[in-house]
Amino acid sequence: MAARWISKLPALTAGRRSFSAVALREIAPSVWRLGEGRPRVAVLGGVHGNELSGVEVVQRLLSDFRHMTPDLQISGEITLAIGNPPAVSRGVRFLHQDLNRCFCEALGGDATPGEELARAKVLMPMLRDLDVLLDLHATNKPSTPFARLPGPVEGRKERFASAERLFLRALPCHTVLWDPNKLIAGGAMSDEYASQHAPFEACQRSGRQIHPAHICYESGLASDKSSAAAIYSAVQTCFAELGIVAHPDGKASVEDEGGRQWEHFEITNVYKLDSRGFEWMNGYGTHNFQVVPPETAFGRRLEPLEELVSPIGHESYIVFPKGEALRSPGWPVGWLARKLSPEEV
Ligand SMILES: [Zn+2]
Repeated sequence: MAARWISKLPALTAGRRSFSAVALREIAPSVWRLGEGRPRVAVLGGVHGNELSGVEVVQRLLSDFRHMTPDLQISGEITLAIGNPPAVSRGVRFLHQDLNRCFCEALGGDATPGEELARAKVLMPMLRDLDVLLDLHATNKPSTPFARLPGPVEGRKERFASAERLFLRALPCHTVLWDPNKLIAGGAMSDEYASQHAPFEACQRSGRQIHPAHICYESGLASDKSSAAAIYSAVQTCFAELGIVAHPDGKASVEDEGGRQWEHFEITNVYKLDSRGFEWMNGYGTHNFQVVPPETAFGRRLEPLEELVSPIGHESYIVFPKGEALRSPGWPVGWLARKLSPEEV
Protein backbone atom coordinates (compact mmCIF):
# COMPACT_ATOMS: atom_id res chain seq x y z
CA MET A 1 0.00 0.00 0.00
CA ALA A 2 2.72 2.42 0.97
CA ALA A 3 4.60 1.88 -2.26
CA ARG A 4 1.46 2.58 -4.28
CA TRP A 5 1.03 5.94 -2.59
CA ILE A 6 4.63 6.95 -3.16
CA SER A 7 4.68 5.83 -6.76
CA LYS A 8 2.20 8.55 -7.67
CA LEU A 9 4.13 11.38 -6.09
CA PRO A 10 6.52 12.30 -8.95
CA ALA A 11 3.55 13.38 -11.07
CA LEU A 12 2.46 15.74 -8.35
CA THR A 13 5.90 17.12 -7.56
CA ALA A 14 6.23 17.98 -11.23
CA GLY A 15 3.43 20.50 -10.78
CA ARG A 16 3.65 23.81 -9.02
CA ARG A 17 2.99 22.40 -5.56
CA SER A 18 6.04 21.88 -3.47
CA PHE A 19 6.29 18.67 -1.53
CA SER A 20 8.87 18.07 1.14
CA ALA A 21 10.08 14.98 2.89
CA VAL A 22 8.53 14.63 6.32
CA ALA A 23 8.66 12.32 9.29
CA LEU A 24 5.79 11.20 11.46
CA ARG A 25 6.14 12.60 14.97
CA GLU A 26 4.07 12.03 18.08
CA ILE A 27 3.30 15.52 19.37
CA ALA A 28 1.19 14.41 22.36
CA PRO A 29 0.09 11.00 23.65
CA SER A 30 -1.70 9.23 20.78
CA VAL A 31 -1.53 12.36 18.59
CA TRP A 32 0.74 12.24 15.54
CA ARG A 33 1.63 14.86 13.00
CA LEU A 34 3.13 14.99 9.53
CA GLY A 35 4.31 18.06 7.68
CA GLU A 36 3.45 21.68 8.26
CA GLY A 37 1.61 24.59 6.68
CA ARG A 38 -1.72 24.55 4.95
CA PRO A 39 -3.94 22.90 4.23
CA ARG A 40 -4.20 21.60 7.77
CA VAL A 41 -6.27 18.47 8.22
CA ALA A 42 -6.95 16.35 11.30
CA VAL A 43 -8.41 12.86 11.42
CA LEU A 44 -9.82 11.75 14.76
CA GLY A 45 -10.98 8.28 15.75
CA GLY A 46 -12.02 6.94 19.11
CA VAL A 47 -13.36 10.15 20.62
CA HIS A 48 -15.90 7.64 21.91
CA GLY A 49 -13.97 4.57 22.96
CA ASN A 50 -16.52 1.97 21.83
CA GLU A 51 -16.75 3.29 18.25
CA LEU A 52 -14.30 1.07 16.46
CA SER A 53 -14.35 2.00 12.80
CA GLY A 54 -12.68 5.39 13.32
CA VAL A 55 -9.98 3.84 15.50
CA GLU A 56 -9.22 1.31 12.80
CA VAL A 57 -8.99 4.03 10.14
CA VAL A 58 -6.53 6.09 12.20
CA GLN A 59 -4.45 2.98 12.92
CA ARG A 60 -4.34 2.06 9.21
CA LEU A 61 -3.25 5.58 8.27
CA LEU A 62 -0.58 5.51 10.97
CA SER A 63 0.69 2.19 9.73
CA ASP A 64 0.85 3.52 6.16
CA PHE A 65 2.73 6.62 7.16
CA ARG A 66 5.16 4.70 9.35
CA HIS A 67 6.02 2.43 6.45
CA MET A 68 6.40 5.34 4.08
CA THR A 69 8.80 7.48 6.12
CA PRO A 70 11.48 8.68 5.49
CA ASP A 71 10.48 8.71 1.81
CA LEU A 72 7.10 10.26 2.47
CA GLN A 73 6.51 13.66 0.90
CA ILE A 74 3.50 15.76 1.61
CA SER A 75 2.45 19.37 1.10
CA GLY A 76 0.52 20.62 4.12
CA GLU A 77 -0.09 19.18 7.55
CA ILE A 78 -1.87 16.04 8.70
CA THR A 79 -2.72 15.33 12.33
CA LEU A 80 -3.94 11.88 13.35
CA ALA A 81 -5.30 11.22 16.81
CA ILE A 82 -7.01 8.63 18.92
CA GLY A 83 -9.46 10.76 20.89
CA ASN A 84 -9.85 8.87 24.14
CA PRO A 85 -7.18 6.13 24.39
CA PRO A 86 -8.13 4.84 27.88
CA ALA A 87 -11.77 4.48 26.80
CA VAL A 88 -10.69 2.74 23.59
CA SER A 89 -8.58 0.25 25.49
CA ARG A 90 -11.53 -0.55 27.76
CA GLY A 91 -14.08 -0.58 24.93
CA VAL A 92 -16.34 1.98 26.61
CA ARG A 93 -17.78 5.27 25.38
CA PHE A 94 -15.98 7.26 28.09
CA LEU A 95 -14.56 6.92 31.62
CA HIS A 96 -15.83 9.96 33.50
CA GLN A 97 -17.69 12.09 31.03
CA ASP A 98 -18.38 12.29 27.31
CA LEU A 99 -15.23 13.69 25.67
CA ASN A 100 -17.32 15.05 22.82
CA ARG A 101 -19.04 17.42 25.25
CA CYS A 102 -15.73 18.84 26.52
CA PHE A 103 -14.40 20.85 23.57
CA CYS A 104 -15.04 24.23 25.10
CA GLU A 105 -12.61 26.56 26.86
CA ALA A 106 -15.29 27.66 29.30
CA LEU A 107 -15.54 24.15 30.76
CA GLY A 108 -13.50 23.64 33.87
CA GLY A 109 -14.92 25.20 37.00
CA ASP A 110 -18.20 23.33 37.19
CA ALA A 111 -17.36 20.32 35.08
CA THR A 112 -16.47 17.01 36.67
CA PRO A 113 -12.70 16.78 36.66
CA GLY A 114 -11.51 13.64 35.01
CA GLU A 115 -9.62 12.06 32.17
CA GLU A 116 -11.84 13.49 29.45
CA LEU A 117 -11.54 17.11 30.51
CA ALA A 118 -7.76 16.79 30.64
CA ARG A 119 -7.76 15.07 27.26
CA ALA A 120 -9.90 17.80 25.70
CA LYS A 121 -7.31 20.36 26.81
CA VAL A 122 -4.63 18.35 24.98
CA LEU A 123 -6.72 18.03 21.82
CA MET A 124 -8.21 21.52 21.55
CA PRO A 125 -5.05 23.22 20.22
CA MET A 126 -4.98 20.62 17.43
CA LEU A 127 -8.56 21.47 16.46
CA ARG A 128 -7.82 25.16 15.90
CA ASP A 129 -7.09 26.69 12.51
CA LEU A 130 -8.00 23.50 10.67
CA ASP A 131 -9.02 23.50 7.03
CA VAL A 132 -10.54 20.04 7.44
CA LEU A 133 -11.56 17.96 10.44
CA LEU A 134 -12.71 14.39 9.94
CA ASP A 135 -14.00 13.14 13.29
CA LEU A 136 -15.01 9.51 12.80
CA HIS A 137 -17.86 8.21 14.92
CA ALA A 138 -20.49 5.46 15.01
CA THR A 139 -23.88 5.20 16.66
CA ASN A 140 -25.13 3.12 19.56
CA LYS A 141 -28.34 2.23 17.74
CA PRO A 142 -28.58 1.09 14.08
CA SER A 143 -28.36 3.95 11.61
CA THR A 144 -27.95 4.88 8.02
CA PRO A 145 -24.50 6.49 7.71
CA PHE A 146 -24.76 10.24 8.15
CA ALA A 147 -22.68 13.38 8.52
CA ARG A 148 -23.31 15.82 11.29
CA LEU A 149 -22.17 19.29 10.30
CA PRO A 150 -21.67 22.27 12.62
CA GLY A 151 -22.54 25.92 12.47
CA PRO A 152 -25.48 28.26 12.03
CA VAL A 153 -28.08 28.23 9.27
CA GLU A 154 -26.21 31.04 7.54
CA GLY A 155 -23.52 29.66 5.26
CA ARG A 156 -24.90 26.12 5.46
CA LYS A 157 -24.92 25.66 1.69
CA GLU A 158 -21.23 26.51 1.35
CA ARG A 159 -20.19 24.34 4.29
CA PHE A 160 -22.10 21.39 2.92
CA ALA A 161 -20.65 21.86 -0.58
CA SER A 162 -17.12 21.76 0.83
CA ALA A 163 -17.82 18.74 3.05
CA GLU A 164 -19.38 16.90 0.13
CA ARG A 165 -16.56 17.59 -2.29
CA LEU A 166 -13.73 16.85 0.14
CA PHE A 167 -15.08 13.74 1.85
CA LEU A 168 -18.75 12.81 1.82
CA ARG A 169 -19.16 11.99 -1.85
CA ALA A 170 -16.57 9.23 -1.46
CA LEU A 171 -18.79 7.54 1.14
CA PRO A 172 -22.06 5.60 1.07
CA CYS A 173 -23.83 8.50 2.72
CA HIS A 174 -26.93 10.44 1.72
CA THR A 175 -27.89 12.02 5.01
CA VAL A 176 -26.78 15.21 6.76
CA LEU A 177 -27.76 16.34 10.24
CA TRP A 178 -27.53 19.98 11.31
CA ASP A 179 -27.79 21.38 14.80
CA PRO A 180 -27.73 25.18 14.42
CA ASN A 181 -29.22 25.74 17.87
CA LYS A 182 -26.59 23.51 19.52
CA LEU A 183 -29.19 21.26 21.12
CA ILE A 184 -26.90 18.22 21.10
CA ALA A 185 -23.98 19.51 23.12
CA GLY A 186 -24.24 23.26 23.55
CA GLY A 187 -21.53 23.78 20.94
CA ALA A 188 -18.90 21.65 22.72
CA MET A 189 -18.38 18.90 20.13
CA SER A 190 -15.08 18.59 18.24
CA ASP A 191 -16.45 19.77 14.90
CA GLU A 192 -18.25 22.69 16.53
CA TYR A 193 -15.05 23.73 18.29
CA ALA A 194 -13.06 23.41 15.05
CA SER A 195 -15.69 25.39 13.17
CA GLN A 196 -15.58 28.18 15.78
CA HIS A 197 -11.78 28.29 15.47
CA ALA A 198 -11.46 27.85 11.73
CA PRO A 199 -9.11 29.81 9.46
CA PHE A 200 -10.57 33.13 8.45
CA GLU A 201 -9.74 32.68 4.78
CA ALA A 202 -10.15 29.76 2.45
CA CYS A 203 -6.92 27.96 1.61
CA GLN A 204 -5.61 28.43 -1.92
CA ARG A 205 -4.58 25.17 -3.61
CA SER A 206 -3.70 24.78 -7.25
CA GLY A 207 -5.44 27.97 -8.16
CA ARG A 208 -8.71 27.23 -6.38
CA GLN A 209 -10.12 27.89 -2.97
CA ILE A 210 -10.69 25.21 -0.37
CA HIS A 211 -13.28 26.26 2.17
CA PRO A 212 -13.01 24.77 5.63
CA ALA A 213 -14.95 21.56 6.25
CA HIS A 214 -15.45 20.21 9.76
CA ILE A 215 -17.25 16.92 9.67
CA CYS A 216 -18.45 14.40 12.21
CA TYR A 217 -19.09 11.22 10.23
CA GLU A 218 -21.37 8.63 11.82
CA SER A 219 -20.67 5.38 10.00
CA GLY A 220 -23.43 3.19 11.50
CA LEU A 221 -23.56 0.81 14.43
CA ALA A 222 -20.62 1.21 16.82
CA SER A 223 -19.70 -2.47 17.04
CA ASP A 224 -19.53 -2.79 13.25
CA LYS A 225 -16.05 -2.26 11.80
CA SER A 226 -17.03 -3.15 8.23
CA SER A 227 -17.32 0.53 7.29
CA ALA A 228 -13.64 1.17 8.04
CA ALA A 229 -12.39 0.29 4.54
CA ALA A 230 -14.73 2.77 2.85
CA ILE A 231 -13.86 5.52 5.34
CA TYR A 232 -10.12 4.84 4.94
CA SER A 233 -10.48 5.20 1.19
CA ALA A 234 -12.54 8.39 1.59
CA VAL A 235 -9.85 9.90 3.85
CA GLN A 236 -7.26 9.22 1.16
CA THR A 237 -9.55 10.86 -1.36
CA CYS A 238 -9.74 13.86 0.94
CA PHE A 239 -5.94 14.07 1.19
CA ALA A 240 -5.73 13.92 -2.61
CA GLU A 241 -8.49 16.49 -3.08
CA LEU A 242 -6.62 18.82 -0.72
CA GLY A 243 -3.41 18.20 -2.64
CA ILE A 244 -1.59 16.91 0.44
CA VAL A 245 -0.73 13.43 -0.82
CA ALA A 246 -1.64 11.51 -3.92
CA HIS A 247 -4.51 9.08 -3.95
CA PRO A 248 -3.30 5.47 -4.16
CA ASP A 249 -5.20 4.99 -7.40
CA GLY A 250 -3.81 8.18 -8.82
CA LYS A 251 -7.23 9.81 -8.91
CA ALA A 252 -7.43 13.32 -7.54
CA SER A 253 -11.12 12.92 -6.87
CA VAL A 254 -13.88 10.36 -7.02
CA GLU A 255 -16.35 10.13 -9.84
CA ASP A 256 -19.54 12.00 -9.21
CA GLU A 257 -22.54 9.75 -9.01
CA GLY A 258 -24.48 12.30 -10.95
CA GLY A 259 -26.92 14.02 -8.65
CA ARG A 260 -26.87 12.16 -5.39
CA GLN A 261 -30.09 12.85 -3.53
CA TRP A 262 -29.07 14.20 -0.15
CA GLU A 263 -31.48 14.41 2.73
CA HIS A 264 -30.86 17.16 5.27
CA PHE A 265 -32.26 17.18 8.79
CA GLU A 266 -32.16 19.72 11.59
CA ILE A 267 -32.47 19.05 15.31
CA THR A 268 -35.67 20.58 16.71
CA ASN A 269 -36.12 19.13 20.21
CA VAL A 270 -34.04 17.67 22.99
CA TYR A 271 -35.36 15.46 25.80
CA LYS A 272 -33.31 15.22 28.98
CA LEU A 273 -33.58 12.63 31.71
CA ASP A 274 -35.04 14.02 34.91
CA SER A 275 -35.93 12.48 38.27
CA ARG A 276 -39.13 10.96 36.83
CA GLY A 277 -37.30 8.41 34.70
CA PHE A 278 -37.98 7.73 31.04
CA GLU A 279 -38.90 4.99 28.58
CA TRP A 280 -39.45 4.87 24.85
CA MET A 281 -42.95 3.77 23.81
CA ASN A 282 -44.91 2.57 20.79
CA GLY A 283 -41.81 0.92 19.35
CA TYR A 284 -39.82 4.15 19.09
CA GLY A 285 -36.18 4.65 20.11
CA THR A 286 -34.83 1.61 18.26
CA HIS A 287 -32.80 3.29 15.52
CA ASN A 288 -31.66 6.62 14.14
CA PHE A 289 -33.94 8.58 11.79
CA GLN A 290 -36.95 6.55 12.88
CA VAL A 291 -39.98 8.47 11.59
CA VAL A 292 -42.55 9.77 14.08
CA PRO A 293 -45.78 11.18 12.59
CA PRO A 294 -46.95 14.59 13.88
CA GLU A 295 -48.55 14.66 17.33
CA THR A 296 -47.57 11.09 18.16
CA ALA A 297 -46.45 9.79 21.55
CA PHE A 298 -42.97 8.30 21.27
CA GLY A 299 -41.79 8.19 24.89
CA ARG A 300 -42.90 8.84 28.43
CA ARG A 301 -41.62 10.12 31.69
CA LEU A 302 -42.62 8.00 34.67
CA GLU A 303 -43.94 8.85 38.12
CA PRO A 304 -45.75 11.07 37.45
CA LEU A 305 -46.53 9.94 33.96
CA GLU A 306 -46.06 12.38 31.09
CA GLU A 307 -46.19 11.32 27.47
CA LEU A 308 -43.74 12.94 25.09
CA VAL A 309 -45.50 13.85 21.87
CA SER A 310 -43.91 14.87 18.58
CA PRO A 311 -44.48 18.41 17.25
CA ILE A 312 -47.50 19.42 15.19
CA GLY A 313 -47.30 20.04 11.47
CA HIS A 314 -44.38 17.89 10.30
CA GLU A 315 -42.91 14.43 10.62
CA SER A 316 -40.16 14.08 13.18
CA TYR A 317 -37.11 11.82 13.12
CA ILE A 318 -35.51 10.36 16.24
CA VAL A 319 -31.75 10.82 16.44
CA PHE A 320 -29.21 9.40 18.89
CA PRO A 321 -31.83 7.54 20.98
CA LYS A 322 -30.18 6.42 24.21
CA GLY A 323 -30.75 2.95 25.57
CA GLU A 324 -30.89 2.58 29.31
CA ALA A 325 -27.17 1.96 29.74
CA LEU A 326 -26.26 5.33 28.22
CA ARG A 327 -28.64 7.51 30.20
CA SER A 328 -27.64 9.76 33.04
CA PRO A 329 -29.60 12.38 34.98
CA GLY A 330 -29.66 15.79 33.35
CA TRP A 331 -28.38 14.46 30.02
CA PRO A 332 -30.44 13.86 26.87
CA VAL A 333 -32.19 10.55 26.20
CA GLY A 334 -32.68 11.54 22.57
CA TRP A 335 -33.53 14.27 20.09
CA LEU A 336 -36.07 14.92 17.37
CA ALA A 337 -35.18 16.37 13.99
CA ARG A 338 -37.21 17.55 11.03
CA LYS A 339 -36.40 17.09 7.37
CA LEU A 340 -35.32 20.28 5.59
CA SER A 341 -36.76 21.28 2.25
CA PRO A 342 -34.23 21.79 -0.60
CA GLU A 343 -34.72 25.55 -0.29
CA GLU A 344 -33.57 25.45 3.33
CA VAL A 345 -30.14 24.02 2.57
ZN1 LIG B 1 -19.36 8.99 18.83
